[in-house]
Amino acid sequence: MTKLLVNIPSLNQIAADPSCMDDYDPNAMSVAQARQFIKQFLQPVTQTETVTVRDSLGRVLATNIISPCNVPAHNNSAMDGFAFRFEDAAKTLKLIGTAFAGGPFHGQVKVGECVKIMTGAVIPQGADSVEMQERVTLSGENITLNQAVKQGQHIRLAGEDLKIGQTVLAKGHIIKPADLGLSASLGIGEVQVFRPLKVAFFSTGDELVSVGKPLETGQIYDSNRYTLFGMLSRLGAQISDLGNVPDDPNLLEKTLLQAAQNNDVVITSGGVSVGEADYMKALLAKHGQVLFWKINMKPGRPLAYGKVGNSHYFGLPGNPVSAMVTFYQFVHEALLTLQGATPKPLPMFMVECTEPIKKATGRTEFQRGVLYMDDGIWKVKPLGNQGSGVLSSMSIANCFIVLDETIGNCEAGAMVNVQLLEGII
Ligand code: AMP
Ligand code: MG
Repeated sequence: MTKLLVNIPSLNQIAADPSCMDDYDPNAMSVAQARQFIKQFLQPVTQTETVTVRDSLGRVLATNIISPCNVPAHNNSAMDGFAFRFEDAAKTLKLIGTAFAGGPFHGQVKVGECVKIMTGAVIPQGADSVEMQERVTLSGENITLNQAVKQGQHIRLAGEDLKIGQTVLAKGHIIKPADLGLSASLGIGEVQVFRPLKVAFFSTGDELVSVGKPLETGQIYDSNRYTLFGMLSRLGAQISDLGNVPDDPNLLEKTLLQAAQNNDVVITSGGVSVGEADYMKALLAKHGQVLFWKINMKPGRPLAYGKVGNSHYFGLPGNPVSAMVTFYQFVHEALLTLQGATPKPLPMFMVECTEPIKKATGRTEFQRGVLYMDDGIWKVKPLGNQGSGVLSSMSIANCFIVLDETIGNCEAGAMVNVQLLEGII
């Protein structure tokens, strides 16, 4: 794999002559190799735009966000209670005023004195500790503390969340709901993000019919454009749906060229397996530098990747589950990279699989599974029908059971790796 990364020939050279690379076999690519391979040709967008904090949700930060202030700005109370000097804790304390959140007490707490204080109120000068009101005995204008206290207790320190000058969010970060609040907590109303990616897609296949038209015998509704729409929307892409195109070389050529001219990325589904792939393959050879792979994975064996003009091209298999799995395993990460983000590997963890799984070694399988709680412990069950055309399995599943190339049949009770669908979908 490391070999793959040194002295990389251009996409053009590899597409024209795959044997120019050692260790490169388009008919036996591992998932990791294919992912690594794609990565080396991805150049992120550079154009940026300024958007309001709310509009930045899901976008990729184009600059570091530096804290212009301490958060919180002042030491403040974590409790409703009384603020006092620690060395006076054993004394009867005289109440001299009240500090509210947003309404500070302006005097000084002197020997033997205390101030009633609300959560979030600035700690008055002189005080260094707070006791909660439930642990205090009040008699008229005086209080006594009911139990021993620690110096500095129940005080949130200035800058304990964020310090002035600190990098709060780094360039390449994908903005999440917490980040919107974080920016607001710094008084930041606008942020600079990378421009969205323009992604066009179309389906190929004579049998495909768009929703809204009746089906004739042998025809099926085009579902891939809907799942692609959903997956791309979650990535915040600017989407162009170019419809479903019959297996007709002229129409395919016209649509492909139009897509590549106006977009950063073109995604097609169907027609990349051998045999019927001829039109797409010939077209992609004529207009671009595209590599056709057979990946050692199930579902989703055929995959094409390359460039058509300046546009990145991904050719996904037509089977609806294969299209989704290959999108998540290859395209998702690539789009994040092109978008200027630094994608992290998807979290994977091991749980007990409660049913046996039949599997051949030598390929990676992404079985659809349901994680469920059994007597307080999370376990996984593979779905019964793992067919690559059974899209309902993707709806019912909440995880992929990821079985790598080294794994063969699994007994019931075996520990297996799972990847949660929620969060990536
Ligand atoms: P292909 O990759 O073109 O050989 O297609 C493989 C299988 O997926 C065939 O059964 C196709 O009918 C089906 N298929 C291809 N494209 C779509 C699509 N857009 N929506 C639903 N099924 C599709
Ligand atoms: Mg087809």
